[in-house]
Amino acid sequence: MTLRYASTRGAAPELDFADVLMTGLATDGGLYCPTEVPSLPDLDGLDDYVSIARAVMAPFVDGAVELEGFAEDVAAAYASFRHPDVAPLTDLGDNVHLLDLSWGPTLAFKDIALQLVGRLLDRELARRGDRVTVIGATSGDTGSAAIEALADRSGVDVVILHPEGRVSEVQRRQMTTVDAPNIRNVAVRGNFDDCQDLVKAAFADPSLRDELGLAAVNSINWGRVMAQIVYYVTAAKALAPDGGPVSFAVPTGNFGNVLAGWYAKRMGLEVDQLIVASNRNDVLTRCMETGALDAEAVVPSLSPSMDIQVSSNFERLLWESADRDGAAVAELLTTFRADGRAEVPAGWMTRIGAEFDFGRLDDDGTLAEIARVHDELDLLIEPHTAVGLEVGRRLRRDPAVPLVVLGTAHAAKFPDAVEQATGVRPELPAFLSELHDRPEYVTTVENDLGAVVEEMRALRGHTA
Ligand SMILES: *Cc1c(COP(=O)(O)O)cnc(C)c1O
Repeated sequence: MTLRYASTRGAAPELDFADVLMTGLATDGGLYCPTEVPSLPDLDGLDDYVSIARAVMAPFVDGAVELEGFAEDVAAAYASFRHPDVAPLTDLGDNVHLLDLSWGPTLAFKDIALQLVGRLLDRELARRGDRVTVIGATSGDTGSAAIEALADRSGVDVVILHPEGRVSEVQRRQMTTVDAPNIRNVAVRGNFDDCQDLVKAAFADPSLRDELGLAAVNSINWGRVMAQIVYYVTAAKALAPDGGPVSFAVPTGNFGNVLAGWYAKRMGLEVDQLIVASNRNDVLTRCMETGALDAEAVVPSLSPSMDIQVSSNFERLLWESADRDGAAVAELLTTFRADGRAEVPAGWMTRIGAEFDFGRLDDDGTLAEIARVHDELDLLIEPHTAVGLEVGRRLRRDPAVPLVVLGTAHAAKFPDAVEQATGVRPELPAFLSELHDRPEYVTTVENDLGAVVEEMRALRGHTA
């Protein structure tokens, strides 16, 4: 039977995987979630990442897309990774293990989901004879991963907005040096929130949605969460081959990564703790302490991909904690949007507290953890990973249970912080060593929807 997906706000039609992939955000403003969580398949005899990935994801897509094409896309997606294990483990001692998710083309874990989602989207568009314009705002890692995944694909135009002068040089060049006819980089004279508001304004205009067939690949897209479930399974299988629990510590911003771990657990993976680690932008940790979502101003940190006060994917967890009461979730999130604050019912918080542990680490702590790992293990880790590692070690309950820390990016993506902590400047892998010499393709615009729409239309006219 084909799995159905429902909106967290309860007022949009249920869809199958292919429609969810194309839709992104539900028409009621909610996020799509599976109405049933399949059990993990029998993985005996499967030991490479691609085979496990196909088996784990098949029940989510079966009946909605053709499995043969899906299997091809999974293989092609992970062939773009520079490590044969795709997501290798490194032993850090004390039964702590680093799951390194940075071997994809843009050196951050976003590649694991987007390399697959880009291919699935393109295949579905070809089948439908459709063309879409993907529009996205990025504070750094998502933009380059989306561009890398979608460059030169025939059914997709891509417009990525980034705040001018506010992404790191490596992050900017990873986006702007891609020379493909269907990609347009737009630098907006504003901050990240301005970029995100421009994207929302574009989606809020029904005639524009129709004209350009707008689509989204940010982390509200269920396909991304689904693809991330796989590495929780491969890590647990490697560390506890006969079953037995494993714990995970996850540096968290939009809650997409750790949510995938929770789905893995729901599928039957033996998980002891799921540890949610944030930097000083700690809206979720405070929510656990106070029982209220309360957004403060975003404070820039050394781990910018976690500088977030509205963790979109948390909505999926709220929905499940509310016994899928979409109306109650919609009311809570409407209040949160309007007032910047909302009380979460105590019963929901109790359920969430039973599944997750929450902790934070500030920039000084982050630098100290990077330095410690360098001194003790002669290993360079980047700031997001350091937050996950320190908080994970602090909050783990049982040292006999393997603790897996998700390494979300390569140290060379954040060279300044790593150098500040260790005195060593991490080098880009050889395939990116010419990044600083390549020409950049970027248009700068004012913080104005009209200017962005012009860019989208120009790109569509150019590739059509
Ligand atoms: C996106 C990102 C995160 C946060 O992941 P979420 O799924 O948004 O919680 C953490 N670290 C790095 C390096 C990232 O790019």
